[in-house]
Amino acid sequence: VTQGIEVTVGGQRASAGPALASRRRPVLSLYVHVPFCFHKCHYCDFYSLVDRRDRQDPFTDALVAELRALAPHAGPLESVFVGGGTPTLLRPDLWRRLLDAFHGAYRLAPDAEFTVECNPETASPELMGVLAAGGVNRLSVGAQSFDERHLKTLERWHDPASVPRALALAHDAGIHRLSVDLIFAIPGQTLDDWRRDLDAALALPVEHLSGYGLTYEPGTAMTTRLERGDVEPAGEDLEAAMYEATLEAAAQAGFRRYEVSNLARAEPGEGPTPRAASRHNLAYWRGESWLAAGPSASAHVEGWRWKNVPRVDEWMAGVRAGGSPVVDLEPPDERRALAERLMMGLRLAEGIDTPVHAGALRAAIERERGAGLLDERDGRLTLTERGFLLADGVIARLIDAI
Ligand code: SF4
Repeated sequence: VTQGIEVTVGGQRASAGPALASRRRPVLSLYVHVPFCFHKCHYCDFYSLVDRRDRQDPFTDALVAELRALAPHAGPLESVFVGGGTPTLLRPDLWRRLLDAFHGAYRLAPDAEFTVECNPETASPELMGVLAAGGVNRLSVGAQSFDERHLKTLERWHDPASVPRALALAHDAGIHRLSVDLIFAIPGQTLDDWRRDLDAALALPVEHLSGYGLTYEPGTAMTTRLERGDVEPAGEDLEAAMYEATLEAAAQAGFRRYEVSNLARAEPGEGPTPRAASRHNLAYWRGESWLAAGPSASAHVEGWRWKNVPRVDEWMAGVRAGGSPVVDLEPPDERRALAERLMMGLRLAEGIDTPVHAGALRAAIERERGAGLLDERDGRLTLTERGFLLADGVIARLIDAI
C-alpha cells in the first residue's frame, strides 16, 4: 500500500511510497498535528496559526482522509499523540468526528497511551467528555508558569488558575494520566520564582512533568525582543541552578528524571524509565518508528524521515487531491542513524547500547568517561549526573567524532 504519500524533494515531486512499502513491521506509534492556536506565543517556533475557525471543518476532513490513508501501515497502536498548535481548540463535534474515524481505521494495543496536548483555557466538560469517550487517556497541559508576570513575558494568554481546573475536568471525565509542562529561565524569573512554579506543579494530581529551559529560536518574537535588548536572558549559572532545583523538587515529590527535561512519578523498584513516562516520546528517543498526520508533522519509519508540508492550505489541497504533500524526505543513512541514536537516546536515563564503532567515536567516549560525564556499564552508555547538566556539549562532541 504505497499510495497516499507524495513528496517534494528540491522542488521535484517524488514519492515516500517506497519508504512505507519497504518497512518490515507495522508502525506502532502515530503523531497527529493540529496547527490552530488563539494567538502566537512569543517563544514558539512550532508550526501553528491563529485560528480563524473557518478552516476547522476542512482541516478535519483532510485529517480524516490522511489518517485513513496511513492506517494500512499501522499495527495495533501503542501510542498516539495529538499535538500542536492547540488540539483542544478544535470544536468538540469535530473531535467526535475525528475520533470516530480514527477508531474506524485503527486498532489500539491493550494498555495503549493516547495523549492530547491541551491549553488550559480550552478545557471544557464537554470536550473532556468527548476525548475520554474516544479513548484519550492522557492529557498534557501547557502550564508554562503559575506566575502571571512570567506568563505575560512569554505572551501566554491564560489564567494560572485554569491549569488545576483543566486537570480536574480531565480527571472527572476519566482521563487519569496527567502531565504539565513548565518553562524556566524566563527573563526576570528568579530561582525562588521557579521553585514556586515547581511546587505549584508538583502539588497538582499529575504523574508527569516536563521542564524546559527557555530557548530563543530564530524567527520568534522572543528572539526579536532579545536582539532589540528588550529582554535579558537568564545567565548560565541561574539556568543550571534552576535545573538542579527541578531535580530536587521532583525527587522530593517522588518523581524521577527519565529524560533530560522530563520527569515522571516513580514507584519503588521501578528502573530508570518509570511506567508514568511518556511512552510516545520514548518512541522518539528510542528511535522507533511513527507515522504522522497533519501539516508539518514529521514521520520516522525504519530510518526514513519525512515531514508533511508545513502550510495548512497546501497540505489540505494535497490531501484532497489524493496524496499528502511531503517535504524533506531522507532515506536511511547509517551515520545519521548513529548520530540520532546518540542525540536522542543519550538524553534518556536508561541510555543506549554502547555503539559498536571503532576509532574516533570510541576515543571520544573514553574522553567523556575520563571527564566524568559518561558512564559505561553492562554494554550501556549513560550520562552521569554531571553529564546530564552538560548533555548538549557531550552529545555534540560524540557526534563530531563519527
Ligand atoms: S499555544 Fe503552543 S503551539 Fe500555540 S503558539 Fe503557544 S506555544 Fe506555540
